Amino acid sequence: MHIAMQTLYGETMPSISENISTIRAQVAKTAHKYGRNENDIKLLAVSKKQSIAKLQEAYAAGQREFGENYVQEAVEKIAELKMPDLVWHFIGPIQSNKTAIIAASFDWVHSIDRIKIAQRLSAQRASAMGSLKVCVQVNLSNETTKSGVPLEQVAELCQQINELPHLELRGLMAIPAASDTLAEQRRTFEPIAILFKELQRTYPQMDTLSIGMSADYEAAIAQASTVLRIGTAIFGPRD
Ligand SMILES: *Cc1c(COP(=O)(O)O)cnc(C)c1O
Repeated sequence: MHIAMQTLYGETMPSISENISTIRAQVAKTAHKYGRNENDIKLLAVSKKQSIAKLQEAYAAGQREFGENYVQEAVEKIAELKMPDLVWHFIGPIQSNKTAIIAASFDWVHSIDRIKIAQRLSAQRASAMGSLKVCVQVNLSNETTKSGVPLEQVAELCQQINELPHLELRGLMAIPAASDTLAEQRRTFEPIAILFKELQRTYPQMDTLSIGMSADYEAAIAQASTVLRIGTAIFGPRD
C-alpha cells in the first residue's frame, strides 16, 4: 500500500510518477480485458499549461512522449528540455502562420484537417529532420465547434497527404463530444476504428489511432486505440 502525501486540507495528492504507474496498470488491465496487447497502446502525456518541473518529473518516471496544444508555449519547453529521447506531438488546432515553427519543432502532428496545412508543413519540413509523422483529425460528432474532417472526406485527404514528400501519414485522431456511458462511447469510436482498419490496407505504414482521453480511454482501447492522450490524470489540474 502506498502512502500518498497529505495536503493542508487533508485530500491526498499522488505524485506524477504514482499517477503514471496507476494509469499504466489500468491500461494493461483494460487491454487484457479486450484481448489486446498493452504494448500496442502508447501513453501520450498531454502537458499543455503544465510546468517544466512537472514534465521533468514525468520524464524521471520514464515518460518520453509529450503532447502540446499551444505553439509558443511548446517551443519554449522544447528549447528548455534538451533530453535527446523526448518525442513531441502537436495536438492542437493549427493556424497556417504557425506551420513553419511546428514543422521545425515537432516529431508528430495529430491535428491535420485540411490539405493546405499539410502542404505547408511538408514544404517547411527540413529534409535533414526526416519526415514529420502525421495523423488526420476526424470529426466524429459533426459539431461545427469541433475541428476535424467529416468521416466521408478522410480517405481523400489521406490520399493527398500521402503524396507529400516530407510528411509520413501514420494515422487518425479524434476528440469526440463527451458521452456518459461506455456503450455510447464505444458507438462513437466505432466508425473511426472501422475506417482506420480499411485505410491500413491502402497505407500499411498507418499504425496510429489516436483516440481516448481520461474519461473515455476504456472505450478507446476496446475500439483499437493505439495512443491515449492523457493530461490532468497524469499532471493534475492545469495552471
Ligand atoms: C487537453 C487535451 C487532452 C488531455 O485532456 P485531459 O482532460 O487533461 O486529460 C487530450 N487531447 C487533446 C487534443 C487535448 O487538447
